[in-house]
Order: sequence, then structure tokens, then C-alpha cells
Amino acid sequence: MTARRRRLPLDVYARGVLTRDRTVLAQAVTLVESAAAADGELAQSLLQQLLPHTGRAVRVGITGVPGVGKSTLIDELGMRLLAQGHRVAVLAIDPSSQRSGGSILGDKTRMARLSLEREAFIRPTPSALSPGGVARRTRETMLLCEAAGFDVVLVETVGVGQGETAVADMVDFFLVLVLPGSGDELQGIKKGVFELADALVVNKCDGENATRAKLALGDLRSALRYLPRLRPSWATACLAVSGATGEGLDALWETVLAQRKALEESGELAAMRAEQQRRWMWSLLREGLEGAFRAHPAVREALEETERAVVAGERTAVRAAGELLRAFAG
Ligand code: GDP
Repeated sequence: MTARRRRLPLDVYARGVLTRDRTVLAQAVTLVESAAAADGELAQSLLQQLLPHTGRAVRVGITGVPGVGKSTLIDELGMRLLAQGHRVAVLAIDPSSQRSGGSILGDKTRMARLSLEREAFIRPTPSALSPGGVARRTRETMLLCEAAGFDVVLVETVGVGQGETAVADMVDFFLVLVLPGSGDELQGIKKGVFELADALVVNKCDGENATRAKLALGDLRSALRYLPRLRPSWATACLAVSGATGEGLDALWETVLAQRKALEESGELAAMRAEQQRRWMWSLLREGLEGAFRAHPAVREALEETERAVVAGERTAVRAAGELLRAFAG
């Protein structure tokens, strides 16, 4: 579908994004999502041109298991931020959309109020991409949104596997939503997700859930004592909120701003973003090198047999890797 879409000249994309033309922004996002090689070159030129206009948003990652209330919370938080004069972009990484081939309608209904607002931009994950591909497109879409003047970017991800680490590594503030009384409190620790969190937020603290939520908050606070501190200038915050009633959401946003202030004052924000770029470059290098390695004729010829020998226990992994690397270098 994307391959047959009409491509615009570079300047038209750039001007459109910078003048906050929503249609052009959406087209530019489609361009960076495209797998076609020609689109890729144009997309990189566009991103390079827009680079000076990026980096100004507050970048917040939000994760939590399905049903924890992410979309309800983002809808409410987003509306509050719009009311304060912010412009809010929501990039949703939803693995299920990879199966159903896109969840545009799903996301529209998930954030029912926000999706109708002109100062909000909601974009679901492109379907059918590898996890690495998703991370890349999301980063690039974030840059486009920043160039288009969105000063808050919320990156939402369902709590599964490596997606969380990738998101934590592209945002300034990583927020983990916790469902009270679900055992989430302990599972989060096992999966290492809590270690990435700038804030652990117990959601659905309303009605008959309120007591349970407060208990969960206490458990989280004690559990946190056993975790290493995330950043020199910020200790993980614990809060209870209700995305449905809005309770605690103002305090949550104040927490985001407080963390930002602390990180800015200590110089950590700039250093962290620089480090994220460095890691990102290395992750692209690793991806590119593996691609080149697998495509190398001598490697292709030997790979299957070498892998078989390792699996069968006939050759050590170290020797096999050494042979393949020599074939690659030779
Ligand atoms: P997501 O899958 O994490 O995006 O979760 P949703 O936002 O779709 O919410 C899942 C379910 O929990 C829905 O039935 C919501 O109505 C409900 N829900 C979401 N937020 C709250 C909340 O703050 N309090 C209560 N009581 N229910 C909520």
C-alpha cells in the first residue's frame, strides 16, 4: 500500500511538517514507516533537515499490561494537557496490531476524546514490522511530531518483552502502570521493568478499588527499596491515580515535570539523550552488521551446516562463530 502512495518533494514534506500541516505530517510519518528503499532515502533526508527543530518535547513512555487502563489514562491526561495549552502526540505500540494488520480504528476508539482534538495527534504502530523496525519508526515519528510542534510525546507500549526497554531508551520519563491486586507488583520486579521506571503508578484508584490500590502502593514502595536507583538525580516515584476519574493525574504530571527539572539541573537530561543516541547508533550498527553478515556469500554457504553442527554438539559455538567470522572477513 505504502509503496504505491504518491511521494511528495522533500521541501513539501519539510515545510508541511514545520507549518504543522496535519495531513503532511501524517504523510511524512507514512514515509518514515515505508519499507521501500527510495522512501527510506527521502525519509532520512527529511529527518536530517528537520533535526534542528526536534528534541523540544517532553517524551514520556507509558507501559502496562493490557487492561491496566493505559488508553483511558492517556485520553484523560491528554485532555488535561491540551487544556493547559500543550500539543500532545500519542504513539501507540500495540503488538496485537501486527496481527490484525493495523489498529487505527482501535486506537481512535481507545482514546475517544483525544482523537477528535486538533491539537492532538494519535498514531498507532505500523503493522508487520520487526521489534527493531517498530523502535526505529517510533523514534523517527517522534522526531517528526516534535518538528511539527508537539511539545508532549506519549509513547504507549503494551508490557511485553523487549518493547519496554526500547521505549525506555527513547523517552525522558518512563512510567509503569500497575494494576492493584493483580500480582503485578511482584511480576514487574521479575521482569526488570520496574528498574526502568521513573514512576510506578498504581491505576484505578477509585471506588471499591481505592483501598486495594493504596495497599499496592505500600507494597511497591517497600519493593523499591531493593531495587538499584535508576538515576543519580531522580529516585523512582510511586503514585496512585485513576485514569477514569482523573484523580492523581495532575500530581502525576507534576512528577514528570519535577523529574525533568531535576535532570535538567544536573545536566543528566542532555547526557541521557546523548547516550540514547549513541546506543541507538550501535543498535543500528549491530542490525546492519548482522544483515551484511548473513548476506555475505561465504557465510551464506557455510551458515546452515555450521549451525547444524553446533546444535548437534559436534562443534563448539566459539569455534563455529570464529569460522564464520573469518569467512565474513575473508
Ligand atoms: P489498556 O488496555 O491498558 O489500554 O486499558 P483500557 O484503558 O482500555 O482499560 C481497560 C478497562 O479498565 C476498561 O474497561 C476501562 O473502562 C477500565 N478502566 C480504565 N481505567 C480505569 C480506572 O481508572 N478506574 C477503573 N475503575 N476502571 C478503569
